[in-house]
Amino acid sequence: MNRPQTLLKVALDTPLDTLFDYRQPESAGAAESNAGSEAGGRVDPQLGQLVQVSFGRRETMGLIIEVADHSDLPGEKLKQALAIRSQLPPLSSEWLDLCRFAADYYQRPLGEVAIPALPKNLRALKTTSIDRALKKLEKAAAHDPTPAACPALNAAQRQAVDAIAMASGYQPMLLYGVTGSGKTEVYLQAIARVLGQAGEAAAQVLILVPEINLTPQLEESVRQRFPGVEVATLHSGLAEGERLRNWLSAHLGRARIVLGTRLAVLASLPKLKLIVIDEEHDPSYKQQEGLRYSARDLAVWRARQLNIPIVLGSATPSLETWQHAQSGRYRQLELRARAVPDAVLPQVRLVDVQRDKPVEGLTSTLLTALRKRLEKGEQALLFLNRRGYAPVVSCDACGWVSNCPRCTAFMVLHKLDRRLRCHHCGLEQAIPKACPTCGNIDVHPFGRGTQRVEEALQQHFPQARVLRIDADSTRRKGSAQEAFETVHRGEVDILIGTQMVAKGHDFQNLTLVGILNPDTALFSHDYRAGERLFAQLMQVAGRAGRAAQKEGGNRSEVLIQTGYPQHPLYAALTAHDYDSYAQVLLSERRQAALPPFLYQAMLRAEAAHLDAALEFLEQARNCLEHPAIVMNDPIPMTVTRVANVDRAQLLVESESRPALQAFLKLWMAELRGLKTRVRWSLEVDPVDI
Ligand code: ADP
Ligand code: ZN
Ligand code: ZN
Repeated sequence: MNRPQTLLKVALDTPLDTLFDYRQPESAGAAESNAGSEAGGRVDPQLGQLVQVSFGRRETMGLIIEVADHSDLPGEKLKQALAIRSQLPPLSSEWLDLCRFAADYYQRPLGEVAIPALPKNLRALKTTSIDRALKKLEKAAAHDPTPAACPALNAAQRQAVDAIAMASGYQPMLLYGVTGSGKTEVYLQAIARVLGQAGEAAAQVLILVPEINLTPQLEESVRQRFPGVEVATLHSGLAEGERLRNWLSAHLGRARIVLGTRLAVLASLPKLKLIVIDEEHDPSYKQQEGLRYSARDLAVWRARQLNIPIVLGSATPSLETWQHAQSGRYRQLELRARAVPDAVLPQVRLVDVQRDKPVEGLTSTLLTALRKRLEKGEQALLFLNRRGYAPVVSCDACGWVSNCPRCTAFMVLHKLDRRLRCHHCGLEQAIPKACPTCGNIDVHPFGRGTQRVEEALQQHFPQARVLRIDADSTRRKGSAQEAFETVHRGEVDILIGTQMVAKGHDFQNLTLVGILNPDTALFSHDYRAGERLFAQLMQVAGRAGRAAQKEGGNRSEVLIQTGYPQHPLYAALTAHDYDSYAQVLLSERRQAALPPFLYQAMLRAEAAHLDAALEFLEQARNCLEHPAIVMNDPIPMTVTRVANVDRAQLLVESESRPALQAFLKLWMAELRGLKTRVRWSLEVDPVDI
């Protein structure tokens, strides 16, 4: 019998912005499926199924986006798909819509969004790892069924939990709670209610966290609180086998709680009923390469698409989210006090470094405070957002500085391994014994990083156990977690670290925080630097005084060493006043016409020579006009050269998001047509200007 042709329109992971047509395989699924289809019989292809096809000279996995009966290609040109993977339920149309939205919004081909969102082993040509994963899932060990006890909520927490559990339909909520106010407890109890209401098998909850390796406490709390419930984690640190297993567990609806980093926002979650984004302000929700998406923004879109509530939690909300809460688009839930009875926010003091000059980065005020805390057996944390020993080495005699030969950047001194290292391109050199230009043997480290402060601390407090946590000290997998555990166990007296130590940790015995050199960000060319600095300092300050104050103990304290004690940012920190400083920043943004009151996209170009990159951007600027779009001048990026490649950027702005989106669509089509050897990429809603 001559059946009508069934055509598959397939998304493939290629830069070509199109779907690819294939005839359906001879006996769909028969080649690999052992369940569901009669041997040799046809299985109707479905949207969202993976399909193996030949593309060019290779075989690859695609995703069926449409089943049609017509192709614009002549019949003899149509290839036949090789096999449909039918042993798994297809991806849902909601999931495909999410990918389609992300592709449209970030101006990428659908295939480049959807296919990489799937675990590698799922799109492998062989199905052995899928079969293995499914078997393992079946055998998954039963958990200990006694849930950890949960503390009684305080009134503010109870209100928040009620609001979340009773929200119906799309309802974005900002859970605005000061550091240590017990947001985690709110998430856990709200999740318990949502899972309970939905009945045993009907609901899934997605919890997004900034960096899972830095917040193992949350994963532990979730597992302890929901011992009978399957919890799946998704993050880039998982081995491929585990990633596939966890992804499948979510896709099959077995995992009721999915806890993951930004990439988890694209997980398949057929029964999703609630999304929680912890520390929603955190920059790591923004993917900074490839598809440069904001997981927070996609999560909000997903909640609206599925008509479910979403909770965005933070003590220092992003200005975007804050603005939505102010305007009433997001509902605001507040926790104004610390949750542990008798735990109070630390006292914040400014140390004027003009008067109390730091020696090796440490003022006498800070040293005295450290000594007192050490005597009492309490822990201290010093925050310096610069790793290495010194950011540059220089020669006084001739003015030589340790520039990276391949980048517009200094080589950083790493004294422990006696190397100069470029943090942009990774180039390493031995520390020169004498100035390479004039031969002067007296070359100096200039400025300081965490290693140098660590050294100074050891000299001041030889008895103290000093621990440094930064990207250098935690290269080995799992070492960051181990390091934090030694702090929790009380085996560390003074912790010194970069932004890694600022996030989320609930240190019980930590009563002093010192902030060493925060001023540089006050004068950055990036208008977001102030917002970021403020959030970061509030967060790091929030690590102090989280437990109840000891009998006869002193109030916990934060010392900020600054040359600008009059700056309003520091005044707001001293008053623990996020609200009014956020208001100041927002009105500045409104006046200067900056996001969130303006919408932006950034076109970046890379070439061996800056001229070529700038020339391409100039060409891009002139190839399309639009009345609602402002095109800025192409300019070199701040760090212009990285690894011998010059980089330039062109910022495009509009007061209207739809206008910007419409323009970008047309513009991308033009740009794809330009003949150029320059590498270029577009970022929508860029965060680093
Ligand atoms: P946040 O995430 O808001 O900074 P956490 O969720 O880490 O705060 O909570 C801070 C501390 O307060 C934790 O030690 C937690 O166990 C405790 N806590 C939370 N809720 C309560 C409560 N209702 N009663 C007593 N302690 C609580
Ligand atoms: Zn010299
Ligand atoms: Zn370099």
